[in-house]
Amino acid sequence: MIETAPDSPYIISAQWVLPIARPPIENGYIRIQGDRICEVGRMADLPEYSRPEPPKAGTLLTPGLVNCHLHLEQSFPAVLAKAPGQPFTDWLLNVVRLLREQSSSEEKTQRCKSGAEELLRTGTTCVNDIASGPESLQVFDQMGLRGIVSLEVFHPDAATVDISGWVAAYRAFCQGYEDHSRLKPGLSPHSPYNVSPAAWIALLDACQPSAVHTHLAEFEDEALYLKGQPSCIQHLHQTILGRSFTPQSPATSPVEALGRHNLLNNRLIAAHAIHTSADDRECLRQHGVTIAHCPRSNLALHGKTLTAPNYQASGLTLGLGTDGRLSTPDLDLRAEARCAKRQHHWSAAQAVEAMTLEGAKTLGMDSQIGSLEPGKQADLVLWQAEAIGISPEAQLLHETTQAVQVMIAGQTRWKGGV
Ligand SMILES: [Zn+2]
Repeated sequence: MIETAPDSPYIISAQWVLPIARPPIENGYIRIQGDRICEVGRMADLPEYSRPEPPKAGTLLTPGLVNCHLHLEQSFPAVLAKAPGQPFTDWLLNVVRLLREQSSSEEKTQRCKSGAEELLRTGTTCVNDIASGPESLQVFDQMGLRGIVSLEVFHPDAATVDISGWVAAYRAFCQGYEDHSRLKPGLSPHSPYNVSPAAWIALLDACQPSAVHTHLAEFEDEALYLKGQPSCIQHLHQTILGRSFTPQSPATSPVEALGRHNLLNNRLIAAHAIHTSADDRECLRQHGVTIAHCPRSNLALHGKTLTAPNYQASGLTLGLGTDGRLSTPDLDLRAEARCAKRQHHWSAAQAVEAMTLEGAKTLGMDSQIGSLEPGKQADLVLWQAEAIGISPEAQLLHETTQAVQVMIAGQTRWKGGV
């Protein structure tokens, strides 16, 4: 659905407007012109002749939600359960088999459409996606979402670095999106255990991506592999690539493995980051790396997640991601925020900030989105809450609250029937 905002400014009001960068406004409004927000304020301050009808009780107006780690291509109808005690790499092998069985462009496009519809329906307007081909970029383009989509690369070999195929794939992937107003292509070296430093460096040199998205410190065996010790990663490589590899230069942790090759920088977004030391976190902070935190996926696959207060005390930026639908039951970022809130004892306001402004900062997009402020893009969601007598942030997080209208760049991309 596309309803273009009229050229002349128009107003959306709600019982509570949550600008995020400042306190909630009761009986507030937003004035939009074209693709931007031009005014945020209280209805009572509008001249009487231009004041709209009083907003409906229980309505909330917020920035669109930002999902910082996603694999849209994995939007199968059900999760791929990991059996208790099963190594994570065995689960990854099952994911690879499933994706290979259903790998036609039509099948991928179908899954991407179903995932993108779910994102819009649950109030997500901006994504940080990882893809194996052009399908998710095309679907996000058609459905009007915003964000970064990174081409995933696997190249654990350090001895024979032939990246020509990946570079050609990346150039084809970027075609048509070089100057796109909402979508930015990026590169995703899968992880320090699946891409050698030599290949990683050569890829960055050849592709010059503006965003880099990786999986970092997700499970214990990563560090074992990078130290040159036996781990289940040798079996993973043997099964998928037909041989095993040794790390290029042994390191004590995945963060150190990247740091010693100057691969930590403010273009890098690191997903998961469960296993880090205080030194690792300080190193990530110094280099401006941001973190995509996926609590539900981490709990389902590893039985644990990162300790958010450690990251926040280190001054790191932390956004929320659902991960792919093979490890989480849905792509609803509010469910992710509820999980994080319980895990880390966040306030409702902290959980809401993690879904919006912190997410935008994680993706380096906070000058454009993440809060309702004049000059920012009109990416916003109108919600209808049933729960009353609680703070507007708690209303937003409540399970019974539903999105009723989702706008991106001033255009309505989804409308609910509440
Ligand atoms: Zn992932």
